[in-house]
Parts: sequence; C-alpha cells; structure tokens
Amino acid sequence: MESKLLADRSIEELELLVEKIHQPKFRAKQLYEWLNKGASFDGMKNIPKSMLDALSEDGYYPQGIEIVKELRSSLDGTIKYLYRLRDGNIIEGVLMKYKYGNTLCVSTQVGCRMNCAFCASGLDGLIRNLSAGEILGQVVAVNRENAVDNERGVTNIVLMGSGEPLDNYDNVCKFLTLVSDERGLNLSKRNVSLSTCGLCDKIVRLADDGFSPTMTISLHAPNDEMRREIMPIAKKYSISDIIKAVKYYFDKTGRRIIFEYSMIAGKNDTEICAKQLAEVVKGLACHINLIPLNYVKERGLDGSSKKNIYRFMAQLEKQGISVTVRRSMGGDIEGACGQLRRKVLKDENY
Ligand code: SAH
Repeated sequence: MESKLLADRSIEELELLVEKIHQPKFRAKQLYEWLNKGASFDGMKNIPKSMLDALSEDGYYPQGIEIVKELRSSLDGTIKYLYRLRDGNIIEGVLMKYKYGNTLCVSTQVGCRMNCAFCASGLDGLIRNLSAGEILGQVVAVNRENAVDNERGVTNIVLMGSGEPLDNYDNVCKFLTLVSDERGLNLSKRNVSLSTCGLCDKIVRLADDGFSPTMTISLHAPNDEMRREIMPIAKKYSISDIIKAVKYYFDKTGRRIIFEYSMIAGKNDTEICAKQLAEVVKGLACHINLIPLNYVKERGLDGSSKKNIYRFMAQLEKQGISVTVRRSMGGDIEGACGQLRRKVLKDENY
C-alpha cells in the first residue's frame, strides 16, 4: 500500500506525486525542503493552499512523529525525547552533546524481536517497524526543537535506539539515503553508525547495496555458548559467522568495525572472557566499546563493578586491543534503552 506520509518520500517520489495532482515539478523541491524542516502544511508558506488542500484531501500528511516530552540532564546536557507516532505508539531517543557535535540515538522499530536478556526494548516483542520517514522524523523533530532554542542541531546519528535496524532493512536503507541527501539534511555518511545484534546476511547485503555506516556489533560475549544464553540471535549466527561478515564489510567499505560489549557482573567480565575476546577480534581493524550495563528491573541482571570493567579493559589493552569504556550519559534521566518509554507508558496515559 502506498504510504501517505510525505516524509517517507524522496524528491523524485514527491515529483511523481505533484505531477499526479497536476502541479509543476518544482513544487516537489519546496515540499521536500519544508518536510526536512519539520513543517506542517500550515507552515509551508510558499506553496499554494490549494495544492496543500488537495494533498490533504487525498489523505497525505507531512510529518509522522512529534515530540511529546523532553527530559534534560542537569549533569551533562543530555536530552531524552519521547515521541508519539501517528498511531499513538511511543518511542524514545537521546541527544548527547559532545564538543565535536550532537549525537542523536535513533529508534528503528517500536519494540524489538531480538529479546536480549539485558535489554528493555524486547520485553513486549516487536510492535511494528518504523517507516523511513518516521526514522528521519526523529532527526527532523530534534533539529527543529534545537533551532527554536538557537542550539546546534544533530550532527551525528547512531541507530541504537529501540529495535534491530537490520530487521527493518528496507526502511533503514531508505532512511540512510534520505538523511544524507544533499538536497535534504545532508548529513555526512561518515557520521552515521548502525548498531546490530549481528544479522550476518544483512551486514553483507548492506555493503553490497552500497551503504557504509560505521558498523557496530553488539557482541556481549566472547564465545557462542555464553552468547546463546544472553542473545537468542546467537542460535542462528555464530561468532565466526559474525567475524566473516564484518571482514567482508570492512573490505568493501574500509570502515573500522566497533564491537560493543555490555558488562554483566559475574558473567562476561572474567579474565578468561577477556582472553577469549582478544582471540576473537585478533587481526581485525576494530575497536571495542565496553558498556557499563544499565540495570533493567524486569531483566534482573547486574552490571559489573567499575573496578572489574577497568580491569577487563586493562587485560584487553595488554593484548594490544583498542578499547574504551563508554561514558555513561544522562544518568539522572532514566537510563537504558527502552526504559523511559516503559516508565512513561506505566505512569501516564499516552
Ligand atoms: N538492536 C541493536 C541496536 C539497539 S541496542 C543492537 O543490538 O545493537 C543498542 C546497544 O545497547 C546494544 O549494544 C545493546 O546490546 C545495548 N543495550 C541494551 N540494553 C542495555 C542495557 N540494559 N545496558 C547496557 N547496554 C544495553
């Protein structure tokens, strides 16, 4: 079925639409510019009302998402956003402010099918995929909000919010194309990262299809047995499948691979794990990001202590591995993935 959300469309697709309603082609470009500014039909000043009315009568609408709540961290300026989609579903995002720019963490699905043992996003399973325009809409809405406050907009994007991006492959690819379109948001392709639990066939396909976001792999375990215990997807793809896929990705794109490793107390944080992990990534152009696990009540897993995380890091460094501990941000505004959404759904009636 044809999408009625205009933000789902490229300029070329908008051109087909305006032609269909007997309007000159240049109107598509105007429409596209407004859409990328987050404007509603009312705000599209240089487009004749008759054309906008015609679109509206045919059921078309410009934006698929709005910000309904904003929480600002008093510690580091991090902002957590809660967005509402047109069908009433709620998703969340985080804007992290660094010296070099502003990174927005973007969601790709409502819920998630992957059901990792530590993650809040998969607790209700997959509710639905987001369309390309709904993914883009998160960036557009935050840019608009920051413009009002006269602040710098989004300069970097990480597809690390709720959902598994490669489980929503077509919409995510379309989003990648739209967000880097020079006639639109024109975000540098180098500033986009995609985080995946490791859908190997899709990693290969992404490179073959000509996309090259920084590939971030949620590894979280140094061997298949442990990985199967915490990540159901590990039953389908082994760690060696992942290594094969990311080598292919690196050869095609030249982008260094990032591995994420959330540190779970007494589970994946031992010295043996560090040795195995070093073995797994040996010889790869990669970096390891150690993530202090955020406690999710429904999951009940505890994060490793700071001491253990730094010991683990030192053990990896000794093996010559490039490794950092991810700085935890926005600690006062509801931590991990999916947590804010769940809290708000429980507390308030959206
Ligand atoms: N589905 C994708 C992206 C979403 S999650 C993926 O698996 O990569 C983004 C990152 O946060 C992943 O590395 C995920 O494993 C991690 N994560 C999820 N819940 C977490 C928690 N409670 N504490 C720390 N990291 C978590």
